Formats: sequence, structure tokens, C-alpha cells
Amino acid sequence: MNGLRDTLARQTELVTKRIPITSLALIFVVLVCLSLVFIDGWRSWTARNIQLREMGISTSNMTRAIAQHADDTIKAADTTLVGLVERVQTDGTGPEALRRMHELLVRRVIELPQLQGLFVYDEKGNWLVNALPAMPSNVNNSDRDYFIYHSTHADPKPYIGLPIRSRSTGAWIITVSRRIEHADGSFAGVALATINMDYFNKFYKSFEIGQHGVIVLGLNNGIMLTRRPLLADTNGKNIANIPLFRDNVAKKASGTIVIVSALDNVRRLNSFRHLEHYPLFVATALSEDEILADWLTDTYLHSTGVGILLIVLSMLGFHLVGQIKQRLNAEAELVRARDALETLNQTLERLALQDGLTGLANRRHFDLALDKEFSRAVREASSLALIMIDVDCFKQYNDIYGHAAGDECLRKISQVIKTNQNRPGDVAARYGGEELGVLLPGTDVRGAMTIAEKIRLEIHNLGIEHTGNSAGVVTVSAGVDAFIPIQNLDNPLELIQAADKALYAAKSSGRDRVCENQSATGPHRSAPEQEPSAIL
Ligand code: GH3
Ligand code: MG
Ligand code: MG
Repeated sequence: MNGLRDTLARQTELVTKRIPITSLALIFVVLVCLSLVFIDGWRSWTARNIQLREMGISTSNMTRAIAQHADDTIKAADTTLVGLVERVQTDGTGPEALRRMHELLVRRVIELPQLQGLFVYDEKGNWLVNALPAMPSNVNNSDRDYFIYHSTHADPKPYIGLPIRSRSTGAWIITVSRRIEHADGSFAGVALATINMDYFNKFYKSFEIGQHGVIVLGLNNGIMLTRRPLLADTNGKNIANIPLFRDNVAKKASGTIVIVSALDNVRRLNSFRHLEHYPLFVATALSEDEILADWLTDTYLHSTGVGILLIVLSMLGFHLVGQIKQRLNAEAELVRARDALETLNQTLERLALQDGLTGLANRRHFDLALDKEFSRAVREASSLALIMIDVDCFKQYNDIYGHAAGDECLRKISQVIKTNQNRPGDVAARYGGEELGVLLPGTDVRGAMTIAEKIRLEIHNLGIEHTGNSAGVVTVSAGVDAFIPIQNLDNPLELIQAADKALYAAKSSGRDRVCENQSATGPHRSAPEQEPSAIL
């Protein structure tokens, strides 16, 4: 019984926890899915940042290499110019000196592939000597910006001019020049080295910079010397006002920045650096889309995988939640069914043991109780008492007042008897018809007589009219007997017979009274002086 109660309690607890359990399962599924999305998103974002950082380092290294290359290229040309200026200033510009100088210039141009030409001009801009096989006549370069600069500046430093097309070859060139002075320090001419722009372009082509990568070589004043890829207006274009130059290149020695190009609207990772010895800068830029192309493919693949995983997980999760719901529903149904069954059982049990009219125990219950209490009385050697009650002249009552009134009368009498059951073990039963019995375990004949008398009086005092009865009201007669039964010697029937006998005595002596069994024979062992051992 306890086990059943525990199981029911457990199941009731489960049912009350039904909403939280399914909600928890749902929250768990959603949390797992969200965690997956978050972890994959975070992994992907980290991978993107690592890719950008690594490419930033690569771009910076490439910029450093290109800047070093430009520096070395110009330095080689400039070193030649330093020697040339020294030579002109010491050896002068006589025919013999110029001839030897010509040989030197031819040799230097052959030695240094970046050199397009070497030139020396006098203070009027006329060509004194160059590295070409033949001297063109009547050529004057006094209109070139480097010539104007040196003639107006006593600056001993090299001058890097604007990109120009060579008058001798028509190719784009960069000019590096130095001022030649007379002994008194006055302007004596210009020594010029021209560097092929193609020399840089070829070098820049050797780098892997993708479809949208850019390499720029420019002057510190924002004039672009060359660019990969070359555009129609690249050479000499002023980019001083584009944000990359204005806000970054013009302000810092080097740096790396992601910026949308003002020229073609492509978002690029830019790295720039100024040359160490000359007023030039180099900038390299890689398209962010190209840098992240592999990452993007990887992310798409990953996202697809995670997406499929999420769908499968969600389906499994919701299936699981559905199953839990179904199980809980089934369990709740089971609990309800058990409750109903339990109630039904209790009702059946009650109906099986209860008299329908009076609500007292029925005959079956009485017989079972009598057997049980009789055995207990034998075991414990305790007195067992029985009161048999019969309604007086009840046949007349029915005849006078009708059967329904008779039923109602029986109910009222039963109610009185019921209220006189004082102990849990007392059993008041409808023995048959209008005959009622009260079984009193652990009660001797005197105790039983007292209770019987009390019942008789209370019924009398109910005052239910009965003109057919000599008392004028409904009365009962009762027979009482009690004894301590002995194993194998007494049986329950004896108690009934003895009480019945006493009842008969009550009837025959005038009704509305209680009699105890007066028989000299039989099991009268409840009287104090009649100990079981004395009888035996
Ligand atoms: P006595 O005083 O000797 O007991 O007389 P009596 O009329 O009560 O005795 P008798 O045995 O002759 O009659 C019993 C009557 O009780 C007969 C029957 O109609 C009535 N009776 C028995 N059971 C019921 C019942 O459930 N309802 C009603 N209304 N009457 C019942
Ligand atoms: Mg009767
Ligand atoms: Mg009777």
C-alpha cells in the first residue's frame, strides 16, 4: 500500500513538473543551437582577423622590400652623380676631360641596368657630355624643372625631379640630379642621371598582389612616379589630397591601414613606408576581398556544415521534447486512471461491506469482523461482546405508516447505534431485516449492557410515533452476551446464538428492554468470578 502511495506521489510530482521539464528541454535545445552559432561565428571572426593580421605583416614586409629596392636604385645612380660632379669640378670641362668622362658615363650606364642615361649640362643648360654614343647638337635642357631648381638653389643634396618623358628615348623616366658649382660656389651646371620607370615596373610585376592589388612609388609631395597597375594618368599625378596620402603617408614614416580607395572605391589593406635616404614613399595595397577570399570560402563551407548540424540538432531536440511531452501526458493519464480506479475500488469496497439503507456494516462485513475479532479475542484472551437489537412491532409500523416510513425509521435507529460506536474496533451492522448487531471487542457483558441500555433509551427518546406499539413510540429490544472465547472450544456462532437468546428473553418479557444471556450452560466466561481456568 505504501509502495503504491509512493509511486502515485512520484508520478503526481512528475506531472506538476511537466511544464518546467519540457520548457527546460526546449531551452537546452535552443541554448545548444545558439552556442554552436556563437562558437562558429566567433571562430570565423577570429580566423578573419588572423588572416587580415597575417596579410598586414606580409604587405608591410613587401613594402619594406620595395622601399629598400627604390632606395638602392636611386642611391646607385646618385653615387655616380657624386663622382661625376667631383670630376667636373676638379678636371674641368676641357675636350680631353669630357672624352674621358664620356667613357666613364657609357661604362656606368652599362653597369647599372636602372640607368637610362647620364648627363652633364653647363650653366646655360647645354649638353656637355652624356652616355649616348653620339652627342645631339643644339639640345638645351634649361627648361627642365631639375635645371631650374639647381640654378636657383645652392642645395648640395640630390634632387628627384617630376616624372618626365625622355627627350632622347621618349620613355618615362625619373631624374636624379646634383648641382655643379664653380670654385667660387656659383652655379656651373647640372649632373643628371635618368632612371627608367620600366626598371621599377618590372620589379613590381614580380610581386603577387592579386587582381586588385596596387603598388605606388611617389614623391613625398604627393606626385605619383609610377604605379602597378599603370593607368593612363599615373605618371606625375598628384595624389596629395586623397585620404590615404593626406591622413597617413604625409604624417607617418610608415604604417598599415584598411581604407576604401578614393580612386576606385576598392577596400584595401594599405601599407606605406618612406625611403630612408630620398624624399620618396612606397605604398602597397591588397584588396580586402581578395585577402579574405579563402577565408570566405572556408566560412561558407563551415556555415553550411553548422547549418545542417543545427537543423539536425533542432529536429532531434524538438522530437525529444515531443517525446517527453507525450511521455508526461501518458504518465498524467496513467495517474488519472489510477486515481479513478482507486476511487472506484474504494467505492466498491465500501459498497461490498456497507448496507445501502442504513449505512451500517452489512451482514458480510459483520461476519468477517466477527471472525476476525473472535480470533483476536482467543489470541489475546480478551472478552468479546455482542448486542443484538430488534425493532419492536415493526411489522405493524410498516402496516400503519408504510414501508418508506419504515425505511426512514430504520435509518434513524441506525444513526443512534452508529453514534454509540466508541472504539475503532466496534462494528455496528445490519444483521438482517430490522435486526441490528453491535460487536464490541475488548468489552465484557457489563460494558455491553451499558451501551445497549444507552442505545435502547436514545431510540425510545427519539419519540418516533408508533401507535401499534404499546409504548406509543418506536422502541427496540436488545439481547447482550459477552465472553472470553477459548481456542477449539468456542466458535463465533455461539456468541450470536447467546445474544439472540437474550434478545428473545427481552421480547418475551415485554419489549423495550435489554437482557443479558442468563443461560447456566454455554460459554459465560466474561463474568469476573468465572475465569476461563475455573470453567475448564
Ligand atoms: P417483534 O416485536 O416481535 O419483533 O415484532 P415485529 O413485527 O417487529 O417482528 P416481525 O419479524 O414479525 O416483523 C418484522 C418486520 O420488519 C417484517 C418486515 O416487513 C419488516 N422489515 C424487515 N426489513 C425491513 C426493511 O428493510 N424495511 C422496512 N420498512 N421493513 C422491514
Ligand atoms: Mg421486530
Ligand atoms: Mg425481527
